[in-house]
Amino acid sequence: MNKEHNPLFKRWKKGDIRVGLVYPNTYKSGIANVGIQQIYAEVNLLEGFVCERFYGDVFNCRRSVETGTRIEDFDVLLFSVQFEEDYFKIAKFKDLKAIKVAGGPCVMENPLPLTPHFDYFYIGEIDGDVEKLLETVLSKNEDKNVLKAETILDISESESSVKVRKAELSYHLCEEIIGESVYGKSFLLEIGRGCHRACSFCVVRQIYKPCRWRNLNLLLEVAENCKKVCNKIALISPSVTDYPNIKELMWELINMGFEVSPSSIRADTIDEEIAELLYLCGQKSFTVAPETSERLRKVLRKGISDEDVFRALELVKGKLNNVKLYYMVGIPKESEEDISSIVELTKKVKKDGFKVTVSVNPLVPKPHTPLQFAPFGGFNADFCDVVNTLKKRLRQLLRLRKLGIKVSVEKVEDFAVQTILSRGNREVGEHLKFGKKAVLRKFPELLKELDLERKHWEFLDHGYSFKKLRKEYEILLEKG
Ligand code: SF4
Repeated sequence: MNKEHNPLFKRWKKGDIRVGLVYPNTYKSGIANVGIQQIYAEVNLLEGFVCERFYGDVFNCRRSVETGTRIEDFDVLLFSVQFEEDYFKIAKFKDLKAIKVAGGPCVMENPLPLTPHFDYFYIGEIDGDVEKLLETVLSKNEDKNVLKAETILDISESESSVKVRKAELSYHLCEEIIGESVYGKSFLLEIGRGCHRACSFCVVRQIYKPCRWRNLNLLLEVAENCKKVCNKIALISPSVTDYPNIKELMWELINMGFEVSPSSIRADTIDEEIAELLYLCGQKSFTVAPETSERLRKVLRKGISDEDVFRALELVKGKLNNVKLYYMVGIPKESEEDISSIVELTKKVKKDGFKVTVSVNPLVPKPHTPLQFAPFGGFNADFCDVVNTLKKRLRQLLRLRKLGIKVSVEKVEDFAVQTILSRGNREVGEHLKFGKKAVLRKFPELLKELDLERKHWEFLDHGYSFKKLRKEYEILLEKG
């Protein structure tokens, strides 16, 4: 962290308004977040404002990274809320005097459980709108995307809606902070936002609608500009290889001398040239997300067959021999046979000569996805039965360790809590101060209260119809 390259650092002088940018999760993931980079740059380019950052694992989020200034000394705190697991940490800042504003994907999904902990919410993608946000909250006003907590609550109980702001990707930040991120020390090149695919469990396809790509020439200009400070580029988008000019972009970046790290790749987009490009750009491992069995993948509209997975592996073989496989359990209509299929698929990858790592987590049926109508665990039963069934499925996958496969599984209870928080209302938010265990103890009760036909996040208008979501869920159940 102390070896950061930070061209945007600004020293505070008397009279400046101090803006704290808070990322309650790890530094490694925060420094790889394009939203944080964008806000930081926009604030520090404003006359009379200074921005400094706070990360969950640096000074426990209590002092800024830049100067070690205490969080209590800031006038405005902008929280980027990316993960439900961070809500408990966020609740600890409730009593700070600063104006507290929440934004980010969790707010775009469902801000209600956060309403007891913030003064304002920014609804949407903030690029190019930071100055307006600051002016609005400092003058204690509201705007169509900058809303007070009580306004959010009123709207959620009415028939009104809030149109979620979507940014135009007509420019790209040229100067970024470069630190040790999940992609290594890289410049983040955000090639696009949103996804045109239809995976039923995916919230990205819904809350970042429509899918937008940046112009190739613009991206190359930005890359050229960052050459003097960085030799590695992380390509950021929900599905990098869906970018229409991906091959041209990767060839150009390799020819410029960059190591390139794509944030995510779909197995069905790999051909010989992409496999070669991945090797040339310095990739050491290949990550695939089969998610589940082929049968359930069809139900979930993932659009990837086992054949696609093995064809992609055949193409990267000899170049990238480390394979990471991502799976989920707790999908509606999931059976023992689906878990056995995952086991067989993994064994086959191992048998093909790859060094395999497996990561499994229980599915969180997220707001705004067709699965928002599904129960946690995929079936209706007593909470203990659901947890036991999921644990049994995870144990079945853990047995792959006997074959020398590294398997990491996430805690079922943590994902149950995430489900409650993602679907929660204001009352759920009030429980945050009692901690994770208390939320878990009240799980069946809270979930029952939240299981309403009209979802309380329906007031967020992302440009799709809730009726269509319901239909999609019904079709999914019929197919399963
Ligand atoms: S391809 Fe990835 S980002 Fe796109 S809808 Fe499917 S899971 Fe979501």
